[in-house]
Amino acid sequence: MKKILVTGGAGFIGSHLVERLLNESNDVVCLDNYFTGQKQNIIHLLSNPHLEVVRHDVTMPYHAEVDEIYNLACPASPIHYQYNPIKTIKTSVMGAINMLGLAKRINAKILQASTSEVYGDPHEHPQKETYWGNVNPVGVRSCYDEGKRCAETLFMDYHRQNKVRTKIIRIFNTYGPRMFMNDGRVVSNFIVQALKGEDITIYGNGLQTRSFQYVDDLVEGIIRVMATGDEFIGPVNLGNPNEFTIKELAEKVIAMTGTKSQIVYKPLPQDDPIQRKPDIAFANNALDGWKPVVQLEEGLTETIDYFRGIMGL
Ligand code: NAD
Ligand code: UDP
Repeated sequence: MKKILVTGGAGFIGSHLVERLLNESNDVVCLDNYFTGQKQNIIHLLSNPHLEVVRHDVTMPYHAEVDEIYNLACPASPIHYQYNPIKTIKTSVMGAINMLGLAKRINAKILQASTSEVYGDPHEHPQKETYWGNVNPVGVRSCYDEGKRCAETLFMDYHRQNKVRTKIIRIFNTYGPRMFMNDGRVVSNFIVQALKGEDITIYGNGLQTRSFQYVDDLVEGIIRVMATGDEFIGPVNLGNPNEFTIKELAEKVIAMTGTKSQIVYKPLPQDDPIQRKPDIAFANNALDGWKPVVQLEEGLTETIDYFRGIMGL
């Protein structure tokens, strides 16, 4: 039985990962400060004696004897990471230093949840891992983007300097059940607006694109990355290469929920990337043929059912 630490374990992705690791008979420590996570996400797992839940902030050192660390702690939605931008960058950078220091002391493997945001508003399309990105270092998104870029640097340097067994994944837009109702990201916003019969808020003209990955596909990819040998460091893209405009997403959600909601257009937030789509050739090759299998309609059906359930509809 492996002992595994998941930081950000009560969040959207973290809770799915914790569940999968418990199902595979591991002993799991779920660490979270509940900034954007919720106990509700893991409440169904609490009776499992192999789960320990710890309230802790990764900006402070933490110690536990574990074999593997998944470092997911960080708010991911633009509204939440811009709420306290200094805290966001501290979480990425000091969180990485604290977790890498722990991995070094206990000789654990450690995986960093990085992001497609390291590519910024990309000039290369689709984005390969070799692309260095186009990030505004002084904009409102930089607390997140540059924090994650610095965390990647720290992961590489702890590997080069201290031989820590590090792995970096770059996650592209991921959605699914257990996203927070007020999360602010596009999939949950559109579904909640549609189910309440409220206006669907498209920012900008809706022609910007994103590629949406269902959470189960991501978790499968994360597990496969951790299982690779010590020579595999990454960074590796994990995302679904099927690209949609935000307007297409809105139309799909309207059709699938049967809502009477109307689309309204709001200003585009500063530095909002125009397009985003992962090149997953490296992941596919390195991770035993990994590729996303859940397509948008199927994933949206699950997610709409989830929100109907929690909204009592
Ligand atoms: P989320 O906000 O649901 O989860 C983040 C979790 O981290 C929350 O439970 C939150 O309470 C916790 N957290 C935040 N700051 C913390 C701190 N200082 N100490 C301890 N815990 C803290 O978001 P998510 O979508 O589940 O994202 C998980 C990870 O994946 C994040 O690192 C995020 O940057 C990365 N990611 C997500 C996406 C996506 O589309 N969902 C895309 C790219 C990268
Ligand atoms: N978006 C939108 N309406 C919303 C929320 C988001 O049009 O209610 C847009 C947003 O401007 C961006 C895209 O949807 O172009 C994805 O936004 P999200 O916050 O989900 O993720 P990110 O911008 O970090 O990829």
